[in-house]
Amino acid sequence: MIEIVNLTKSFGSSEVIRGVDLSVKQGEVLVIIGPSGSGKSTLLRCINVLEIPTGGRLTVGGSSLEFQERRKPKPSQLLEIRRKTGMVFQAYHLFPHRTVLQNVMEGPVTVQKKKKGEARAAAMTLLQKVGLEQKADSYPHSLSGGQQQRVSIARAMAMDPDVLLFDEPTSALDPELVGEVLKVIKQLAVEGMTMVIVTHEMKFAREVADRVILLADGVIVEEGPPEQLFSRPKHERTVQFLSLTY
Ligand code: ADP
Ligand code: MG
Repeated sequence: MIEIVNLTKSFGSSEVIRGVDLSVKQGEVLVIIGPSGSGKSTLLRCINVLEIPTGGRLTVGGSSLEFQERRKPKPSQLLEIRRKTGMVFQAYHLFPHRTVLQNVMEGPVTVQKKKKGEARAAAMTLLQKVGLEQKADSYPHSLSGGQQQRVSIARAMAMDPDVLLFDEPTSALDPELVGEVLKVIKQLAVEGMTMVIVTHEMKFAREVADRVILLADGVIVEEGPPEQLFSRPKHERTVQFLSLTY
């Protein structure tokens, strides 16, 4: 579903992603952990080309792009990849003047040109899935942070992406609201959604991941199934990181 070959991303003279090779199978859940500033968000943003990589090759859901420092891809090529992915951010970015239902319908109606009735029915099904059908006509400000984040998951799903990307989806939430969001993500995993999740929730990572990678200084230091990476890490860098967080 995702294939990344020798991906690099520089900001000016600083190379933040330094040659990453990675593939994610259909239905697989990949969790990315690593210290702050190691390039986790940048890597995620490269996968949906919110950041344009400076080198390497990226394939998402059958669409491929080859990147070179001085050759910008066409907007249509970027759009093709972006539409295969849905992104859930740390802060939920809902439209404040639209109801929950309108937030979830917005993309399908304006971008995918779906009929309103159809989009509404699909949105209601997704709101049921995240346990918020009774909030369909509420406005975002009246919801808790956990509820807003569940709406943004429903909104990302509404575009029917091949892959869902999460960038620290619970780190802006009060601790008592974290569980309800993780529960929704776990349910998506059970249903076979392909997901790449950046998180600091190590217990959650252990439960939901098929595979975990530790990113440090823009390279993959270690990669493996969660039980191996968390219980029997092979690299000193991983031991050190886990000792600080886990
Ligand atoms: P993480 O998500 O692991 O904390 P980031 O991907 O956000 O790390 O950042 C990795 C490095 O790239 C940091 O040093 C950060 O300052 C730098 N960086 C990220 N985005 C930009 C940008 N738009 N311009 C310049 N530097 C950036
Ligand atoms: Mg980040």
